[in-house]
Amino acid sequence: MQKYEKIRIGEALFLDRDGVINRRIDGGYVSTPDELELLPHATESIARLSHFFRHIFVVTNQQGIGKGLMSEDDLLAVHAKMTAAIEQAGGRLDHIYHCPALKEAHDFCRKPNIGMALQARRDHPGLRLKDCVMIGDAVTDMMFGRRCGMQTILVGEWPEIATQQPQLVDFCFPSLLEVAEDVEQQIETSQPAVNH
Ligand SMILES: [Mg+2]
Repeated sequence: MQKYEKIRIGEALFLDRDGVINRRIDGGYVSTPDELELLPHATESIARLSHFFRHIFVVTNQQGIGKGLMSEDDLLAVHAKMTAAIEQAGGRLDHIYHCPALKEAHDFCRKPNIGMALQARRDHPGLRLKDCVMIGDAVTDMMFGRRCGMQTILVGEWPEIATQQPQLVDFCFPSLLEVAEDVEQQIETSQPAVNH
């Protein structure tokens, strides 16, 4: 890990959703806006990171739809609430990509496959995936980022993944807040000294 000195700011930030922006429901799905519990400082951190990336995308596997446990409209309602909270904090999301397919389907859009990244590039011609950063809390997020040539940042309860699959992970942070702090510090320390 820590193969790079700095987080590659400028192009686009790809964010996983569950466990990064909102609390993950183990063994279940966030199927209504009421079930969406944003993680502490998540919206504020996205707002702070919004200054440093041309685009902010969410890429999220939502096989609860494929299982028939929730509908596309349910998901849109959840995402409307999440987007509103982020915008209220001063941040933005350019697009939320989701994959409804079942894990067993091995669909190209489902992480760790890279379909959602290619969709983002179709929607934003000129997007350089190799200059992008992927933030997630699961090994599949890290694989997705690697396959796209992105830098990868693991957040949350990461020790197991980071120690077992260190080749997939460039940086580890407890949460988005520490990522935002690191990026801001990087900018501050790169400012040339003012000569009087
Ligand atoms: Mg996740």
